[in-house]
Amino acid sequence: MTSLRFIKGIGPKKAGLFGKLGINSIEDLAFYYPRKWIDRRPDKESNTPPYVVRQDVVCGEVVAARETYTAGGLVLFKVVIKNDRGGEAEAVFFKRRARGFDVFGSMRKDFRRGSRVWIVGESEENMFLTKIRAQEYYRDDDPTAKKYHTGRIVPVYPLTGGITARLMRETVAAGLPFSIEGAGDFLPARIREKRALFDRAEALRCIHFPENYFQLASARRRLIYEELLLFALACAIRRRQIREIPKHFSYEIKRHLLTPFRRNLGFELTGGQKKAINEIFGDMRSPVPMARLLEGDVGSGKTVVALSAMLLAAENGAQSAFITPTEILASQHYFTFEKFLKGLEVRFELLTGSTPAARRKKILEGLACGEIDIVIGTHAILSDGVKFRNLRLAVVDEQHRFGVRQRAAMRDKGELADVLVMTATPIPRSLFLAMYGDLDLSTIKEMPAGRKPVSTLETDEETAFEAVNEEISAGNRVYIVYPAIEESGNAELKAVKTEYEKICHRFPGFKAELLHGRMKSADKKRTMDNFAMGRTQILVATQVVEVGLDVPEATLMVINNAERFGLAALHQLRGRVGRGNRPSRCLLVCGNRTPEAAERLDALVNCSGGFELSEKDIYLRGAGDIFTEEQHGDMGFRLADLSRDGNILRQAIDDKDGILSIDPDLSAPENAGVRKKLIEQYAGKWNLIDLS
Ligand code: ADP
Ligand code: MG
Repeated sequence: MTSLRFIKGIGPKKAGLFGKLGINSIEDLAFYYPRKWIDRRPDKESNTPPYVVRQDVVCGEVVAARETYTAGGLVLFKVVIKNDRGGEAEAVFFKRRARGFDVFGSMRKDFRRGSRVWIVGESEENMFLTKIRAQEYYRDDDPTAKKYHTGRIVPVYPLTGGITARLMRETVAAGLPFSIEGAGDFLPARIREKRALFDRAEALRCIHFPENYFQLASARRRLIYEELLLFALACAIRRRQIREIPKHFSYEIKRHLLTPFRRNLGFELTGGQKKAINEIFGDMRSPVPMARLLEGDVGSGKTVVALSAMLLAAENGAQSAFITPTEILASQHYFTFEKFLKGLEVRFELLTGSTPAARRKKILEGLACGEIDIVIGTHAILSDGVKFRNLRLAVVDEQHRFGVRQRAAMRDKGELADVLVMTATPIPRSLFLAMYGDLDLSTIKEMPAGRKPVSTLETDEETAFEAVNEEISAGNRVYIVYPAIEESGNAELKAVKTEYEKICHRFPGFKAELLHGRMKSADKKRTMDNFAMGRTQILVATQVVEVGLDVPEATLMVINNAERFGLAALHQLRGRVGRGNRPSRCLLVCGNRTPEAAERLDALVNCSGGFELSEKDIYLRGAGDIFTEEQHGDMGFRLADLSRDGNILRQAIDDKDGILSIDPDLSAPENAGVRKKLIEQYAGKWNLIDLS
């Protein structure tokens, strides 16, 4: 580690600022990857990749420069230059006037007649670059300008106060040779050749200062590949490790709870549910901890599968926690549990932030002494304040909102050994392997009998309102979803608060209520209860209704600005209806759409099953709704993005299998580098004892 202060111009104060960005040494600089790149070449290649922004630039000799003042309090600095192609261009810098201060004073000397300058900005006449709204300029005789800042592809870094883009670029450039020198290449040469990857030094150089798009793309591919390979290896090693730790207890199927539970249900379990239950019971009874993901489309009946697992635990005197992404969902599930566990010798409680203090205290006591078998709540119930007598099973509902780190923390907590996570967001196979390589998979493929697929149509707003009227008049309930909570100035984007007023006026004989994420949790709960109980017929909501709400009487889902939602979210929203025996509809009311949005809507209309949808190419694109920021953070990627880099991911997974099948402990000399990197990056974070 070499101090940044060896770089010219970096003193203790600046070094401190770099530290804020996580750059503590010269070696760190190479790994501070740009967020994007700006193409400031006068002649640009075509096929600009999505991570590159093109910016107009003119280079030439100053012919004239003058300042003018506008009535609006601005000072304009207008420069006419003769560009190298013989034409003339006018560039304008804008600044706010400051009394008694010469705002362009420092610039004037750089624009003396005859000086050569580079001006970067936005041209108003695209073809000819004759008028430029200037953003930055560089003197041509400034030796760093052309090297790092203009006339080339320029890196854009995340910055902090006191560190300008210019300083950052120059510091990275100064440090790069030193940090690359020590970096070495940890990838086996065999893999580098097979995948035609840049070697590491070259990739690091080109990721910062590429000369063309090919270099940039190759550098990215190499660095993304290495992130994904390490990630895939870490997942595989963790999975192996989890299986090696015995859990020191086992279960017997006693049936004194399971049998009456089955009787309470009032329906037959589907084949898929039975199979999932068998797989889960098999895991729970085996000597190693369960780590299983239960995937099942919305409405496929995952909750009763989870209940079966928790009852098996309870039959054996063990406690379970049922963890939901939101408090609303927790209370929803509590009602379901009440229904299905009626008359059973099992105690379950709801514990949320809105549980009154006295009650909370009692519940905590009940959990500590083992009186309570099942507790329902958000992951806060696994926080340190809550003590269990023998918590052995955690069921996590809607897995895609739950990070790897949380799962690891959960597993490390006391006796807790078995973990079941559930999701209705189908994950393509390759992604599953990478993300959840530490989980086994159960899938419920079919829907309970009698379910009719939800018919999905695009309509205009008026037709949708007529449909709303039809349904509520027939005694059914409807959801109307909008993308935004409040008006945002974007006239195209409808906001739930304004539309709610209109809806109330339009259906005077019925009751509508509003539901969005910024409401207090008690209000949300009351609103959902009202809808579930039929006290309100229309729920006007944002995407918060996406997960878990189970109201069989709801037969219509209207999604406004449907073009704004990702495919996974649309499918989840649609899953709120069609949960009873009545025929249901999902109506999409759309504004202007991009070709990609059109493709999504098409897929949704033509395809009712989530698994089918998940295999579509567009499923993951822009999939903000599948991975949370936190999950991205957990994976620790600097460049890779699972929703975009599926191809590289598949290669990395293949290569991971190849490596581990020959050298499971990574002890071969050619894998020494990979092993060292894995330890650095994952051993501590994921507690990979195998490697240390
Ligand atoms: P999800 O998998 O989306 O969590 P739920 O567990 O909420 O689905 O189940 C959806 C609805 O289907 C619930 O009302 C549940 O009681 C009902 N259900 C579950 N299994 C069956 C079944 N085998 N037959 C009929 N209805 C079922
Ligand atoms: Mg559910």
